[in-house]
Amino acid sequence: MEHEVIIIGGGPAGYTAAIYAARANLKPLVLAGYAAGGQLMTTTEVENFPGYPEGVNGPDLVENMRKQAERFGAQILFKDVTKVDFAKKPFEVTFEDTVAHGKTVIVATGAAPRKLGLPSESRLWGRGVTSCATCDGAFYKGKDVAVTGGGDSAMEEANFLTRFASKVTVVHRRLELRASKIMADRARKNPKIAWQLGKVIDEVLGDPKVSGLRLKDTKTGAMSDLNVDGLFLAIGHIPNSSLVKSVLKMDEEGYVLTSPKMETSIPGVFACGDVVDRTFRQAITAAGSGCQAAISAERYLEANA
Ligand code: NAP
Repeated sequence: MEHEVIIIGGGPAGYTAAIYAARANLKPLVLAGYAAGGQLMTTTEVENFPGYPEGVNGPDLVENMRKQAERFGAQILFKDVTKVDFAKKPFEVTFEDTVAHGKTVIVATGAAPRKLGLPSESRLWGRGVTSCATCDGAFYKGKDVAVTGGGDSAMEEANFLTRFASKVTVVHRRLELRASKIMADRARKNPKIAWQLGKVIDEVLGDPKVSGLRLKDTKTGAMSDLNVDGLFLAIGHIPNSSLVKSVLKMDEEGYVLTSPKMETSIPGVFACGDVVDRTFRQAITAAGSGCQAAISAERYLEANA
């Protein structure tokens, strides 16, 4: 069966694209993946999504988006796409042993925060370990927290967190920061920011929530403990773009390149959400670009009817 629009991804970008495509009567097929919902599934309370003055649970928010898309006729399957062929027309999208055909495809596969890979990090994820200062910073009023990473994100998050926390310690594996001078200087001048440089996190401590970090000096191997209530990871993100690698043009870090209309390097294929966004990475910006991608797909279909 040939679909007008196939959407790959079941986070805010994919579901918003689905709402718009479905309301345009395009009956989109959404391949939301086994782990649908994206990064919102690992967020507790979302306080900055417009329209929810009391805040909303991340999983509830994304579930509402899914229901809204279904209400207008989107077909949603919780299947992982294993292969795409955009050289063929209609485009081919494979999941399990099925090949779906689409006149247009919207890639909304998201991104994942890079993690340290420690068992204690997984155990305490959402219980003091998080990768989103914008989402969770306000929960740490008057507390001590740590940020790990030495790039611009780490500096930005550390500065942001000083609005709430009484002390923010930056833990970075090297003595030199990777961050741009302006961002690093701003953080250095902030009296609420402390530094643990040349240190890696050996273990996140606490049960049932974070109470500290065990740090290891990268030169001497000496161990030390740091008491904190929260750990914010800022060690980069990884766009989930392996599916379209060497198919769509992307930058050196794997973010899919698009025009402002969310067009990729292949006409008829659009991309949106965190797989294209190295800067904002918010649910609302993902939803916004999902809307743009769906409207662009609709216009493409009209022009190529
Ligand atoms: P990034 O520049 O890649 O920095 C990641 C940091 O995490 C590096 O300091 C790296 O250490 C560290 N790191 C990576 N893997 C690690 C691991 N396994 N364990 C411990 N530390 C690890 O990422 P980013 O800060 O997210 O920035 C991404 C891009 O967005 C950059 O181009 C940045 O300039 C841009 N950005 C700009 C702004 C702004 O201008 N307002 C704000 C945020 C981000 P090493 O340094 O040792 O490699």
